[in-house]
Amino acid sequence: MPVVVLGCKGCGTCTQVCEKNAIITNAGKVVRIDEEKCDLCMKCIEACPNRALFYLE
Ligand code: SF4
Ligand code: SF4
Repeated sequence: MPVVVLGCKGCGTCTQVCEKNAIITNAGKVVRIDEEKCDLCMKCIEACPNRALFYLE
């Protein structure tokens, strides 16, 4: 299941912690997560100060 984004404020924290380069942004804001690259490590979810990333069961 994927990691999804809702209400990104474009702070850039998640893209810095993602070691798989799986976070796709547009104009600084997260658009979606590339499921092909994402290994579900959850680091981005833990790092987002705005709680904008979620893991869908
Ligand atoms: S769960 Fe891990 S690999 Fe997937 S987008 Fe977040 S930080 Fe990157
Ligand atoms: S850490 Fe959260 S608010 Fe910041 S860019 Fe990533 S999803 Fe958006």
